[in-house]
Formats: sequence, structure tokens, C-alpha cells
Amino acid sequence: MNNELYSTKLYLQVEMSGVIELWKVADAVCFDVDSTVIKEEGIDELAAFCGKGDEIAALTRKAMGGSMGFRESLSTRLNIIRPSMARIQEFIRAHPPTLSDHIKELVNCLHRRGTNVYLISGGFRSIISPIALQLNIPLENVYANKMKFYFTGEYAGFDENAPTSSNGGKGKVIAALKRKHGYSNLVMIGDGATDLEACPPADAFIGYGGNVIREEVKNKSKWFITDFRELIDALK
Ligand SMILES: [Mg+2]
Repeated sequence: MNNELYSTKLYLQVEMSGVIELWKVADAVCFDVDSTVIKEEGIDELAAFCGKGDEIAALTRKAMGGSMGFRESLSTRLNIIRPSMARIQEFIRAHPPTLSDHIKELVNCLHRRGTNVYLISGGFRSIISPIALQLNIPLENVYANKMKFYFTGEYAGFDENAPTSSNGGKGKVIAALKRKHGYSNLVMIGDGATDLEACPPADAFIGYGGNVIREEVKNKSKWFITDFRELIDALK
């Protein structure tokens, strides 16, 4: 092996072991939800359920390549779906989200150690709360967007003041958590670019590709896993 390749490899190993050491002493762990804690993307599933799947998929592709801000893209998509409160309840009943493999054991393991677990998502509370309950995560540890409804139950928009509806929103939530609780070893785990961008302020980031692998995230993660058992094993 040539020297340069050897030193790059060595450097990456040192970087990864730094994240593993921090993981072992994490005082707070924040998970992304879509394609991380659950196997699906909540908004895409909701759109498909409301018969708007193709329209939303086309828009998501466009938003990914373009300069549309997160809030604008969320607002555009929801204005197409316009789910009523009743429709969302039907959706949750008909399409309960599938938990990712071994996430439940991982969260249990963290709770037993006294580590605080949070869910931080650009998706919606109404869809995420049942997931938090399944994982015994208190609802006050869920940071996500809030849909608004008229008293008739019709869709009325979403709370645009929530940090999770803005670009860099996950980082804002993490910075606030660190200020409030004084966490010094906060780990963010997720599959997407917005999760990666939340570190810093997160002290470490672990990329997760158990449901979908995003090359950019994989390449930039110091520690990239495809099975949550790797994280459980590292705690033993
Ligand atoms: Mg995700």
C-alpha cells in the first residue's frame, strides 16, 4: 500500500474511533425519523394515500435539485395534499409506519442507560407521535412540524414558526437542547443531508443507511452503519 493511501486510511480510522468513543458516553441521542427510525418517508406515504403520490414525487425531485427552501417545499407539497384531520387519522390506521430493524432494542438500551432520546423531523407531529409512543419516547422529546386545521377539520396550513420547518432546522433544535440541558456529548443519527448538516452543533453524527443509502451522507459520515445492532454492540 502506498504511503498516502495508508495515511488516509489511518486518518479515517482515527476519525471513526473518535465517534465511537463519543457514542459510548453520549448524554443525548437525536434520531431523524423518515427512513431512519421508520422505513418510510411519511409525507410521500401520506401523499400516495391521498392519491397525490406522483405529483409529490415529481415535486420532491424538483426541490432536491433546485433552490427551493425547505419551508417553501413543505408548503407547496401540503397545499397539493391538503389532508384533513380525519384523513390523517385514517392514514395512520391504514398505514402504520414500519419501525426500522432493531430500533426498538436500541432505544430501550439507551433508556436503560439513562440516555435522553429525541426525535427530530421535518415531518409532522400527528404522524410521528404514535411512533414515539411505540418507542416509549416522551412526546415532549419530539421536535417536528405541526399541521393546523380549521374547526371543521379541514387542512389550514402548518406552524411556520417551528424551527423544524426552516432550512437548518434540525441544527437549531439541537443547539437549543444543548443550551437548555447542558449536553456535551449529543449524537445525531440519520440518513439524510439535513441530519449530517446538524453536526455541529451536534457533537457527533452517525450516518444510517439501513433503509436507503444516500451517497453524499455515506461519504461524509465518519461512522456509517446499516444496522442498528452495530450501535447496540458498541455500548456493550
Ligand atoms: Mg430521513
